[in-house]
Amino acid sequence: MRAIVMSEHGGPGVLRLVDRPDPSPAAGEVLVRVGAAAVNRLDIWVRENVGHAYEANLPLIPGYDVAGEIVAVGEGVTPVATGDRVYVHCDFSCGRCEYCLEGDEAACAQYGVLGVSRDGGYAEYVVAPVRNTFSLAESLSFETAAAAGSVYLTAYHMLFSRGALRPGETVLVAAAGSGVGGAAIALARFAGASVLATASTEAKRQRALEAGVEHAIDYTQPGWASEVRDLTGGRGIDLIIDHVGESAFPDAVKALASKGRIVICGASSGAQAKLDLIDLFARQISVIGSSDGTRRELWEVLRLLGEGQIDPPAIEMVLPLQRAAEAQELLSTRAHFGRVLLDPQAA
Ligand SMILES: [Zn+2]
Repeated sequence: MRAIVMSEHGGPGVLRLVDRPDPSPAAGEVLVRVGAAAVNRLDIWVRENVGHAYEANLPLIPGYDVAGEIVAVGEGVTPVATGDRVYVHCDFSCGRCEYCLEGDEAACAQYGVLGVSRDGGYAEYVVAPVRNTFSLAESLSFETAAAAGSVYLTAYHMLFSRGALRPGETVLVAAAGSGVGGAAIALARFAGASVLATASTEAKRQRALEAGVEHAIDYTQPGWASEVRDLTGGRGIDLIIDHVGESAFPDAVKALASKGRIVICGASSGAQAKLDLIDLFARQISVIGSSDGTRRELWEVLRLLGEGQIDPPAIEMVLPLQRAAEAQELLSTRAHFGRVLLDPQAA
């Protein structure tokens, strides 16, 4: 098969297209012909070896957001017949600890990720445990499933599990053009929230308005929190969905209503932020971390997408495998709105 293999850390040039023998599924595993693989910021962190949370097993085929068709099964894998169209969940874990038992595998001490700790989806084929495969509705294309999978799961967990969104609340989504941002807008609207979003450019703010947000705010302008306060009649925001981190944090906290929550799943602008603890207790605000989501939540977002109940992800571009480095560079520039995908079957 053709695959992008990374044998060392470094710039986009370390992503090399090579020919490799097709992998074969072991007991309990399936072989998936990759229909689409999304390109994510984590892929870039893994390539550059930044961030301490994820250690790559080199040489490595990157890519953890994968949808495709089961073409072979290993020993002991029963009726999940070949021909099934599936999304491949990226989490690997012990399956036995208290976190695994409640389905929150990202909290497991033995947590591993497809495309990080084992070969992922920047390839014509990928192998995964059968329990990591989720069947797709006929209506869901591989592209939509790969583009949605991890970011809709992340946003769902942030909004409903960690952020405890209630009907009628006001949600502010940071970085509307990002994968998680777009997913959070779709899911918060589905839940009946009033949704505001921030974005760095006029074009992205326009796209956010088209996606149904009530107001789109320029977060590169200092003091944007007071604009948010004005837009909410002085009340502020109940729930902020953020992964911008350091640069946006002070204004985000100011934009919160009393008893507001800010849920954070990333720190793309930097990881160090100051918090006034008097502000924290006097206004009873909560700063909440979130990572990934549960299998049940993944099942739920794929069902909602399949039934057309939530808006699908915006897709910026679909590129062939040999343009993987270019795809990652496009993501780094932040010029995109929506998801960047690879189609490993394209010439
Ligand atoms: Zn576990």
